[in-house]
Amino acid sequence: MTKDITELRNRHRNRYTKDEMAGRIPENILEDILSRVDIVEIISGYIPLKRAGRNFRALCPFHHEKTPSFMVSPDRQIYHCFGCQAGGNAFNFLIQYERLEFPEAVETLAKKVGVSLPQGQKQDYKTTSLITQLYKINELTALFYETNLNSSNGLEAKKYLLKRGINESTIKLFKLGYASRNWDALINHLRNKTINLSLLEKAGLVLSKEGGGYYDRFRDRIIFPIFDIKSRVLAFGARVLPDTSSKVTGEDTSPKYINSPETPLYIKGRNLYGLNLARDAIRENDYVVIVEGYLDFIMPYQEGQKNIVASLGTALTTEQARLIKRYTHNVVMVYDADDAGQMATLRTLDIFIEEGMTVKVVSLPEGFDPDLFVRKNGIGNFKEKINQAENLFDYKLKVLKSRYSTKDIEAKALISFEMLLTINRFKNAILKAEYIKRLAQELDVREDALLQELSKIKKAKPYSDLGAQGSTKKALNINPTEKLLIKLMLEEEALVSHIRERLEPADFQDERTARIVSLMFDLIEQGKNIEPNKLINYLNDESTSQIICESTLLPQISSENKENVINDCIQRLKNERLRIKKEHLHEQIKTAEGLGEEEKLNRLMQEFHCLIKERQDKINEEERIY
Ligand SMILES: [Zn+2]
Repeated sequence: MTKDITELRNRHRNRYTKDEMAGRIPENILEDILSRVDIVEIISGYIPLKRAGRNFRALCPFHHEKTPSFMVSPDRQIYHCFGCQAGGNAFNFLIQYERLEFPEAVETLAKKVGVSLPQGQKQDYKTTSLITQLYKINELTALFYETNLNSSNGLEAKKYLLKRGINESTIKLFKLGYASRNWDALINHLRNKTINLSLLEKAGLVLSKEGGGYYDRFRDRIIFPIFDIKSRVLAFGARVLPDTSSKVTGEDTSPKYINSPETPLYIKGRNLYGLNLARDAIRENDYVVIVEGYLDFIMPYQEGQKNIVASLGTALTTEQARLIKRYTHNVVMVYDADDAGQMATLRTLDIFIEEGMTVKVVSLPEGFDPDLFVRKNGIGNFKEKINQAENLFDYKLKVLKSRYSTKDIEAKALISFEMLLTINRFKNAILKAEYIKRLAQELDVREDALLQELSKIKKAKPYSDLGAQGSTKKALNINPTEKLLIKLMLEEEALVSHIRERLEPADFQDERTARIVSLMFDLIEQGKNIEPNKLINYLNDESTSQIICESTLLPQISSENKENVINDCIQRLKNERLRIKKEHLHEQIKTAEGLGEEEKLNRLMQEFHCLIKERQDKINEEERIY
């Protein structure tokens, strides 16, 4: 029996290999824990829940919103946010909210409900989870690049860093490294340590070749490991050597910096470079300096500005603001002269205001970035600049006034609008009123006119709800017919066998829904239940779990309509699959015709006729049924 379950789970989990699964907690124990916990009790321990019919509702803890779209179902023991698609069972909630790994979430809930986990399991699963393996690979990779930099191979790179004023101890502290010119240096190194190449691909370190096989992602570049708050290596940034790029490619076209892609460990916009080293200094000074690039961070840090982090070029996200908020409420943004004058750049700072933080701006003189500024003018002058940072309100107003004449009425309206966008983000009514008063004075307009304008933009979406945010995920975008059928099966187990007689998983066009359906079919065949909160354990994949939760929480369908709805859905999926098949055959026939492949053409034509006939037969059959 246990073997069955393990096999089943291996087949349906796409994020874990068989070996990774071997040390895992048995499914029946996971189910036991889930049947004893109450998800409403768990979640309401973190956020206030309000009853809404059969379910509970709340403001989503995973994205910023003003109207609640986060739902918890006591009947199905799942949660789902219709705003950001976060969702899952009690384990998922702890993983997301407390940032635990799966085994830790299991342990926490097991303790809570008094289920004892098998002895010795703890060690096993900790060392075998995918996340743990990826951390391990990153650590080995960082060490490999670091060793490279200090070998004859990395001589040129090392010379370059030293020439730029980065000293030996800084190089060591940041574990800077060098990726050589070879296409497979890292691959060969890690292969010798018997590391699976597909794991390297998951870690974003290698790319697959067209004809099969892999090659190193980073070549002939200086490597900057990116650390998380616990100083574990999450990902890598890589910079070209200024003199060699042209030698290698024949022209200077390679981008200056490339970064790891997103991986299960590394999600862009969720962390800040250097926070692991800077957090104590940030807390002590009660403010943080934010710069953009690796070197803009490293040089001031080396010279003594310890309360600093780098955003790594991407627009700041709500998640990054909240990360900072754990240590301080005060932010100083340092921009190059070009960026500081851009309204788009300044607008992103409203995120901090929305989070109730204060933000100041420093702009460096033309042609300087923080790295160059500190090298040329010294850290003393840099600190001086920081001390002179201007409040965002004042700074933005100054930029706007220098751009538009306040004598012109149209320009006044434009300036007010830009300023009101920022003022609108203040949650504190007193601050809001104070800034309105000041703006009225500065522009010499009436306060009530500004208030009137403010009320017009009031309905604008909160910053964190806008598409550009790291925390807001894309909609799941699933064919509604497929989603509806899944919902119906989850509601009524008896339907699964009925649907199984008429559809196969491949009839579902979305790979994720096909996986859910295939899992449900298998479980029902084994006489197991398919409650959504337990189904999620088998899949262990975020977006597939989200589909289950969303389908479950869709509005009920009245029972008198149900049968028609089901038959309609089945028919639609069948037609769709047939249509795709036909299209595909049609393409093949055209190609065969073009190439003059007589024999193949005949075979394809026959297939095509069969398909059409099959379809006609089916239509006739359906007509007989109804
Ligand atoms: Zn949400």
